[in-house]
Amino acid sequence: MVPTPIGNLLDITYRSIDILKKVDYIITENKKHTSILLNYFFIKNKLLTLNIINEKKKTQDYINILKDGNNLALVSNAGTPVINDPGFLLIKYAYDNNIRVVPLPGSCAAITALSASGLQSNKFCYEGFLSKKKQLCQNQIKKLSEEKRTIILYESPKRLINTIKLIKKIMGKKRKILVAKEITKKWENIQRGAADKILDKISNDDNWKKGEITIIINGIKEKKIQSIPKKIFKIINIIKKETSVSSAIKIVSKIYGYPKNILYNAIINKFKKVD
Ligand code: SAM
Repeated sequence: MVPTPIGNLLDITYRSIDILKKVDYIITENKKHTSILLNYFFIKNKLLTLNIINEKKKTQDYINILKDGNNLALVSNAGTPVINDPGFLLIKYAYDNNIRVVPLPGSCAAITALSASGLQSNKFCYEGFLSKKKQLCQNQIKKLSEEKRTIILYESPKRLINTIKLIKKIMGKKRKILVAKEITKKWENIQRGAADKILDKISNDDNWKKGEITIIINGIKEKKIQSIPKKIFKIINIIKKETSVSSAIKIVSKIYGYPKNILYNAIINKFKKVD
């Protein structure tokens, strides 16, 4: 497993270069893409492909090559193979066939962005790309809004503004986020702040319409659930008698600016019963 740079070609380890020179074959997502890296480091080796289209078909062939005693290096277009990249089946089959899997450390956009986030990074969850389907994407963000760990997402520039709008709407306008574009590349741009401020900043800047993007979202703090003033519970209690708990939460959220999910959690914790 050989990680390759996520932009700056110098972000590769000596050991990775050494392995890419020594193995019998390099398995790559895209031959053209990998050739740029190999040429840069004067590496000459034979390339095989593994991508989302041929993964099922090719994996067994590559296991056979390994069983014949060859060494294979797996690389993707950028970063750590298998992290939102092809290769999972190959690794699984390798273990099933008692073939040794050797992971090399190296570039990964998720970890690189997290390391510069200034958000809690001892506990985090990696969610990859959100669904492209509107409703599913909303549901995912709703679920993540209760996550206490720091959240890492990959995002395309096409969906970035919409995703931040959803984060603002569902997680609250004050939720702290970091948006990192083109890390290690010429147009690297990292913005950190409350969701509403980040939305304003990037909506008015055409540079955010292209490039590769990683989003880091602050998790909720336990104490936030506890820190709803008593007055708010009283108001929800009064309104809920006229309508329902969910409508009461919606109204109070609009007036007082507490995110709906935080109010909902607080109510559940307080009354342990919601209609
Ligand atoms: N395997 C890769 C890794 O280890 O990071 C991730 C592959 S995934 C198909 C590609 C996504 O990673 C991009 O769409 C973007 O969300 C994120 N990404 C990759 N390179 C990046 C960079 N230089 N800056 C910010 N995000 C990046």
